[in-house]
Amino acid sequence: MATDYYAVLGVRRDASPDEIKKAFRRLARELHPDVNPDPKTQERFKEINAAYEVLSDPQKKQVYDLGGDPLSQAGGGGGAGGGFGGAGFGNFSDIMDAFFGTSQQRGPRSRTRRGQDAMIRLEIDLNEAAFGTTKEIQVDTAIVCATCNGEGAAPGTSPQTCDMCRGRGEVSQVTRSFLGQVMTSRPCPQCQGFGTIVPTPCPECAGDGRIRSRRTLTVKIPAGVDNGTRIQLAGEGEVGPGGGPAGDLYVEIHETAHSVFQRRGDDLHCTVTIPMTAAALGTKVPLDTLDGTEDVDIRPGTQSGQSVPLHGRGVTHLRGGGRGDLIVHVEVQTPGKLDAEQERLLRELAKLRNEERPTGQFQPGQQGLFSRLKDAFNGRS
Ligand SMILES: [Zn+2]
Ligand SMILES: [Zn+2]
Repeated sequence: MATDYYAVLGVRRDASPDEIKKAFRRLARELHPDVNPDPKTQERFKEINAAYEVLSDPQKKQVYDLGGDPLSQAGGGGGAGGGFGGAGFGNFSDIMDAFFGTSQQRGPRSRTRRGQDAMIRLEIDLNEAAFGTTKEIQVDTAIVCATCNGEGAAPGTSPQTCDMCRGRGEVSQVTRSFLGQVMTSRPCPQCQGFGTIVPTPCPECAGDGRIRSRRTLTVKIPAGVDNGTRIQLAGEGEVGPGGGPAGDLYVEIHETAHSVFQRRGDDLHCTVTIPMTAAALGTKVPLDTLDGTEDVDIRPGTQSGQSVPLHGRGVTHLRGGGRGDLIVHVEVQTPGKLDAEQERLLRELAKLRNEERPTGQFQPGQQGLFSRLKDAFNGRS
């Protein structure tokens, strides 16, 4: 990732939303093109806008904190190129705020506003997470009303200029107070500040300019996604009021548990139980890996707790290619019920190995599994 948005705004990674906002306002005042038209400064102004766009939006911030760049994808809400513009609605009022100490807008407000982001959960299995897949998902979101093209007016009619405010969206009033005459403005009560009136609302969307609809989307899931990974689909969220630009859709990945493999990062772990004799003599055990059946090579003299890594048989790394390992942990089973013949043979073996009265090796504490695991890794790889 190229840009450190926290550094751009000069805040710590654990900065509160309020600190982020303050840092942005301070820089916006300093670097605004109207104040400082130097091209280098303008570039920097774009940067702080992009940084603020990400860090002021909880969802984008989360994507960024998880290592993604919410602005890097096509149309990703303004994008790095047009950091100030596109989706800068949120930013814009904050810039007004920075300059005028108020976010009150002048003139009529637009009926068109950006829609909200939407989120959908998607369950995939380990195989799909490891190698990537393409999924069709059904989404229920607001789309532009086709009957009125988002205008909100019934076909054949159109919004009309409000006669109370003459389209200004606000009405002024002179009041007398002990300070003298004071002029105050407030949003026009007849048009709610829009400056226009829709005399006949569209019957399809009741004047909202959008309707709910179910769509099918095809989502490409990259190899290496994990539980909680969010995939951003720019402009596939909710269309805004008045047919405003759509928010983004986030697809959150949920990986279903596998019957044999447990995933830790990009490595997979499983345990195989083998009889004592096989551990002593060595054997090959077939295992259904993600890449088909492979033999796990249990070497002669394998101890309980040792593990056998199958290199590159884990999950694909999301970034940078390559794959994790599949690690098979070995558990040796001591035979329980012995019949007379088996007991005789084992006693004979013990005698041959001088193990009839073992003294044992005592060590402090509980060393077993941990030290054996360490030894096993060092010995094997
Ligand atoms: Zn409509
Ligand atoms: Zn009005």
